Amino acid sequence: MRIDVMTLFPEMCERVYTESIVGRAIKKGILTVCSRNIREYSDNKHRNVDDTPYGGGEGMLMSAEPIYRCYQSLLAEGGNEPHVIYMSPKGKVLTQQRAKELALLPRLAILCGHYEGVDQRVLDEIVDEEISIGDYVLTGGELPALVLIDCVARMLEGTLSSEEGRARESHYDGLLEYPQYTKPALWRGHEVPEVLLSGHHENIERWRREMSLRETLQKRPDLLLDAVLSEQEKNFLAQLRQSCGGNHEE
Ligand code: SAM
Repeated sequence: MRIDVMTLFPEMCERVYTESIVGRAIKKGILTVCSRNIREYSDNKHRNVDDTPYGGGEGMLMSAEPIYRCYQSLLAEGGNEPHVIYMSPKGKVLTQQRAKELALLPRLAILCGHYEGVDQRVLDEIVDEEISIGDYVLTGGELPALVLIDCVARMLEGTLSSEEGRARESHYDGLLEYPQYTKPALWRGHEVPEVLLSGHHENIERWRREMSLRETLQKRPDLLLDAVLSEQEKNFLAQLRQSCGGNHEE
């Protein structure tokens, strides 16, 4: 997969491309990420990329033309036409499911806004989808873009060392992950659940699934509305609800 990031602050993003999972995906050749500085596409002698909003109001807006030219330069390189995403607090909130779908596309281009946002006309012209990372406003689209890139990189085939590990993580199948423990078995009077020391794989799997259901019921009961559960799992949840006095509402 290739991802082009259109930004006014490429140096803010670059460090992340060399680190951790994103860095690993790039080293393995699974992912290519390129930043482009929108300022380089300004034809203004001061390299201005923003202006005041029509109709008045606070702050500045990113102008349409430098962004449009920046995008045209991506297209001029050839290859697959990118699916263009504008990081925006007005977009649909990013989910694991959407990241999985995006990971199947050959090329993405991500536009990072700044100031009060971007002239609507260039958004209408080039953007396919707006994505938010949550219902709050950040100063720029760079951190949200990095969140999206990290999330998508984890979903690319071959990025993580174990496919199974990925499938067990929170949100992958609509539930939260079970609690985990590492050595020592006894830490400041707190023991690791005995089943995990038993070596009995079937019992460990059952315990993990049940704990996953319990975590989800306690912390994010809303997720259970869409989770695909067996009859046995539904019964387990019903018992849990009863033992908690029916306090968990989805
Ligand atoms: N005036 C805009 C509004 O009220 O919708 C907010 C502009 S914000 C200060 C500047 C830029 O940060 C946006 O253009 C967007 O690219 C990015 N941004 C801010 N919050 C975001 C969020 N929750 N998710 C994704 N991008 C965000």
